[in-house]
Amino acid sequence: MESRMIEMAMDFLESSVDCISKQEVTQSELKFSIVHLHTSAELFLKADLMKEHWSLIFRHIKEASKAKLESGDLISVSIDEAIQRLRDIGGKKIDGTVLKRLGKERNRIVHFNSSISHQHARAQLLDTHCFIIDYIADNDVFASCDELRPRYDEIKRKIGSQQQFIEKRSNTIQGELRDYETIIKCPDCWQIAVPLEDELQCRFCRASFERADFIDLYVSYFLSDYPDEEDVLQCPECLSDSAVFAEGPNNLVCLQCNAVLSGYSVCEDCKELMDGSKYDRICGDCAQQRFDNNRLMPAPSLPEYEDID
Ligand SMILES: [Zn+2]
Ligand SMILES: [Zn+2]
Ligand SMILES: [Zn+2]
Repeated sequence: MESRMIEMAMDFLESSVDCISKQEVTQSELKFSIVHLHTSAELFLKADLMKEHWSLIFRHIKEASKAKLESGDLISVSIDEAIQRLRDIGGKKIDGTVLKRLGKERNRIVHFNSSISHQHARAQLLDTHCFIIDYIADNDVFASCDELRPRYDEIKRKIGSQQQFIEKRSNTIQGELRDYETIIKCPDCWQIAVPLEDELQCRFCRASFERADFIDLYVSYFLSDYPDEEDVLQCPECLSDSAVFAEGPNNLVCLQCNAVLSGYSVCEDCKELMDGSKYDRICGDCAQQRFDNNRLMPAPSLPEYEDID
């Protein structure tokens, strides 16, 4: 029952996203998108409420019966009541402001067929997409129906491919990301939004990763396929082959132990990481080898000085 409800929630979510993913969106597509998104949010919350107890989706709990539930012959809770119960009984922290605003818009459309401005509707849709993505991740809504997760990931990718969503979401998570020293690119949504810490979770798309999977995905998506290019190096701190040059300010990092390896550079001869002056081009061992073999030392890469006129 619960997973059927989640499937329906996804049908409505996908339909809502498809409606607004086109170049030109008509008034009626915008309206459908809002109505469907509201229904989707309502179903996700009700499915989550059912995890507490199935009777909680009946508006009047004293009328709850399994037979009514199975036949669908029931008056169910409103979205506001569902939020209230999830808070009071489920002990969840839910800010229902976004859904309240969307609900008002939905009612204006359904009951009065009022027209809406594109900009206003888009803003509400984007806010609600953010809400749903965060709610599902925070409450692990797919925990009891893992088989449905790949479809949700697909829909999430559709949401994440809209330029306006990227801008909106990036702004929303910026404050949170400021607290982390190193943030790297997410192999799921390709945004630079995964803080390098014990739990690897993307703040943009909220995908969570096991470390070994993350390293595999990161290397296969973002690093070179050419075997002669040394883009996965041995980490001098944990000795695993997981040091990479990532995008961002602290760019040499270890994906295994989270070390920021800013004091290290790559030796031109052995291609291993070396600790030393940033002007050295080869490591001590390689320098000794060149000396033993009477080979020329590379010139140090001294900084360029500006000409003085
Ligand atoms: Zn992501
Ligand atoms: Zn390491
Ligand atoms: Zn070397």
